[in-house]
Parts: sequence; C-alpha cells; structure tokens
Amino acid sequence: MIDSYKHKGLRNKLVEKIRERGISDEKVLSVIQEIPRHYFIHDNTFLPYAYDDVAFPIGAQQTISQPYTVAFQTALLNLQKGQKVLEIGTGSGYQTAVLVKMGVKVFTIERQKTLFDKTKQFLPSIGYRPKFFYGDGYKGLPNYAPFDKIIVTAGAPFVPEDLKSQLLIGGTMVIPVGEGGVQKMNVVKRISELDFEQKVLEEFKFVPMLTNKEYNG
Ligand code: SAH
Repeated sequence: MIDSYKHKGLRNKLVEKIRERGISDEKVLSVIQEIPRHYFIHDNTFLPYAYDDVAFPIGAQQTISQPYTVAFQTALLNLQKGQKVLEIGTGSGYQTAVLVKMGVKVFTIERQKTLFDKTKQFLPSIGYRPKFFYGDGYKGLPNYAPFDKIIVTAGAPFVPEDLKSQLLIGGTMVIPVGEGGVQKMNVVKRISELDFEQKVLEEFKFVPMLTNKEYNG
C-alpha cells in the first residue's frame, strides 16, 4: 500500500475539518494527520472516501468509526505516554492505531472472530503492536487490570460494572451509552475505591456493544 502526497493532502483537509468541529488537542490531531486511514479500508468501493469524515462498513456488520468520533474519544482520554489503556471493540484497528501512536500500552478486545483474526494480522503488518484479545468486552481483562484509561467503541446499553472495577483510582473511561442506535458519550472517572463521577456529553451513533447471547456471526 502506498501513502502518497495526495493522501497526505487529503488528511490535512480532514484534520482541518475535525479541528473546525471543535477538537483542539494538537497531539490527537497530529496522530490523525500521520495515520493512513485508507490502509484500514479493505473494500475498494469505499476507498475513495477514506478521508471523508464518515464511518464505513468493515464487514461482519461492523463499521470503522468516523474520524471526528475517534478524535473526540481520544481527546477525552487525556492520554499520558506509557499509560495502560483498555479498548473494547478492535474492529478495523484504526482507533487502536491512534492509541498506539499516542504512546500508550494498548490492550484491545474484539468479540467478532473474523474481525479479530483479520485485524490481529493486519495491524502489526503496518507497524502497530497492541495486545490483542478475542473475548467479551463486557468482562474486560481482569488479569491485566487496573487500567489508567478505558475506551469503548461500541454503543453500550449501560456502563458495565466489570469495566468500572478495572479502572485505576484516578482513571477515566470513555463510553457511549444508550439503546436504540443512539448513544450519549459518557465520561466515567474513578475517584476512590467505591466512588465514580459520571459526565454525560453529546450524542453519537455506534454499532451496538453485543452480549454473548446476541451472536452476530
Ligand atoms: N474502533 C473500531 C470500531 C469498530 S465498531 C474501528 O474504528 O474500527 C465496534 C466494534 O465493537 C465491532 O468490531 C464489534 O464487533 C465490537 N464489539 C461489539 N460488542 C463487543 C463486545 N461485547 N466485546 C468486544 N467487542 C465488541
């Protein structure tokens, strides 16, 4: 795959668009500027639109998140180099790559086997090496907890207790919460062993975070 001047130019424009929509975190913007999003789109039909600020199907009824959404969630995490980050919903691996490039240690979980296998092979092939897990995001990764930050990239019906318990005190989870295809971005901060602070922000549309009962191929 080639990352041409044309692609870089398109990314410049994309970054400007995201900036205009209100993202001001320069580190996040520069990471979006650097990662070739067209590498993550394996369907030629959508390739010409790789740098439009939209979501795309990536197979198995899933989508690669919209760049604005990726930037919004990443900025909310307020990442510091070396932190441990749990990501639920590996999908295409684009958000994962953004996290890796932010300089954090990424643990990413995907429940869809086809996508898991594909992205586990693909991401290292373009230089990104998070730790991949095939499993249920509702359960998190108790053996690797606690995490400084947790990011959920599927729409959750509620904030899973298991994930809250895997946050470090002082840690933050960014999670879209809501049913019926629309969610509100929630920021959950653990302020002590038992106390959490929750902020509810604007609306987004994610594919649903599924439980094991809702098998989706
Ligand atoms: N960050 C991804 C977004 C993918 S869409 C990207 O930018 O490409 C959300 C992903 O969450 C899908 O791949 C879906 O299979 C996965 N997912 C849904 N429910 C899950 C669960 N309970 N555990 C882990 N992954 C889940």
